[in-house]
Amino acid sequence: MGCLGGITSPFWSLRERRGVDLPHNKVTAEMPTRTMPVPSKVILPMQQHVGARCTPLVKRKDHVNVGMLVGHAEARTTADIYSSVSGTVTEVRNIYYANGKSDVAIVIEPDGEQTVDESVWPPEVPDYRMLVHAVKYSGIVGLGGAGFPTELKLDVDVDSIDTWLVNGAECEPYLSSDYREMIEHPDTIRRGLETCLDLSGVPHAIVCIEDNKPKAIELLERTFADDPRVDVLAMPTRYPQGAAHVLVRNATGREVPRGGHTTDVGCVLFNVTTMSCIGRFLEDGMPLVKRRVTVAGDAVANPQNLEVCIGTPIREVLEFCGLREEPHKVVTGGPMMGVSQVDLDYPIVRQNSGLLAFGEASARELETTACIRCGTCVNSCPMSLSPIEIMKAYRRGDMAALDRLMADLCMECGTCSYVCPARQPLTQNVRLARADLKAEKRKAKGR
Ligand code: SF4
Ligand code: SF4
Repeated sequence: MGCLGGITSPFWSLRERRGVDLPHNKVTAEMPTRTMPVPSKVILPMQQHVGARCTPLVKRKDHVNVGMLVGHAEARTTADIYSSVSGTVTEVRNIYYANGKSDVAIVIEPDGEQTVDESVWPPEVPDYRMLVHAVKYSGIVGLGGAGFPTELKLDVDVDSIDTWLVNGAECEPYLSSDYREMIEHPDTIRRGLETCLDLSGVPHAIVCIEDNKPKAIELLERTFADDPRVDVLAMPTRYPQGAAHVLVRNATGREVPRGGHTTDVGCVLFNVTTMSCIGRFLEDGMPLVKRRVTVAGDAVANPQNLEVCIGTPIREVLEFCGLREEPHKVVTGGPMMGVSQVDLDYPIVRQNSGLLAFGEASARELETTACIRCGTCVNSCPMSLSPIEIMKAYRRGDMAALDRLMADLCMECGTCSYVCPARQPLTQNVRLARADLKAEKRKAKGR
């Protein structure tokens, strides 16, 4: 099909006015990735993915190497956890999240040697089944923030798929981790994507990149210039362009049905760094033990892209970058969909593409005022929902209305809260409504 070469999607007009233009603040975009030294300790929570928690396979005083399996679960939906350092296990203990939930974590004191475990070996993948099987033992999850086990995403009926989408949109402000992957490692992206296409037989791939990244678009066009299966698509820069259903719609014109998946409309969708990670794993066999994190925000003295060992405490990352002032708000991920962290001893985990620290002035919460019925939240929602009506229905406990208003379609992108002039807590309420509606539906199905 050849490269589309900076041409925007013919389907974009479907939702032209939805979403929101955000200040990009991607000050780290042109900074080459630096590698952070091995930290004083790594903390490996046993749930760094969507699905079942892993069980620790090591105990206090055990010696571990880089790439050694330390957490495993028998469940179907899970992703194994590997040590990011060589050293000694000092603790296996509970840790607590900001939402009150707890997890088990393995704490390792590095020996500084970074000895690679003898189990690390490039996999042989003669066919698609073996590729899926190999990725199961890679610890790779969706690196754009979702944390969904990649093996499960690959494990689909490939005969029903005609389009392999690669998400290089990186539409959240501040973040430039995926952008650096595209600039620094186009060859591993190519290796990962072309292996998947070769072995699956899926005939067409589209690498989707927002048009505020012209260097990445040009570089990937050149990278795939001789592969007629791969198009590079320049998409308009508008948040949340990278959200799964939005991207499928804007790249292919297909609507994922309510409650359905991208596979229902013949598409699979992978984050661009995830694709690259598959390419790297096929080459050296090293499971996912480190990742690039964009460290930014106005409290950070030296914003940058850092490659860190998974499990590095947030505090050590911030100390390495330096702080202008005591952070009043620390977020892992992007400012729109990221998670606020209250404990700086909590670690960087696999799906954290960003670490943002904000000072007192920018972290201050604005006062909520009465809804002025301006309709901006409704006009901006990329899923065509009515956030204000959903919030009202949630507050009066009206499940039938939540179902009618399709609260379950919310992807928690934060657009409605961002655009609301009254600073109504729309996203928070729609998130709760969505959870309640899903629980109600599960109950109705007897599950
Ligand atoms: S209702 Fe959900 S999907 Fe719509 S703008 Fe708000 S957070 Fe985004
Ligand atoms: S954007 Fe805010 S003020 Fe406007 S209708 Fe929605 S909730 Fe009300």
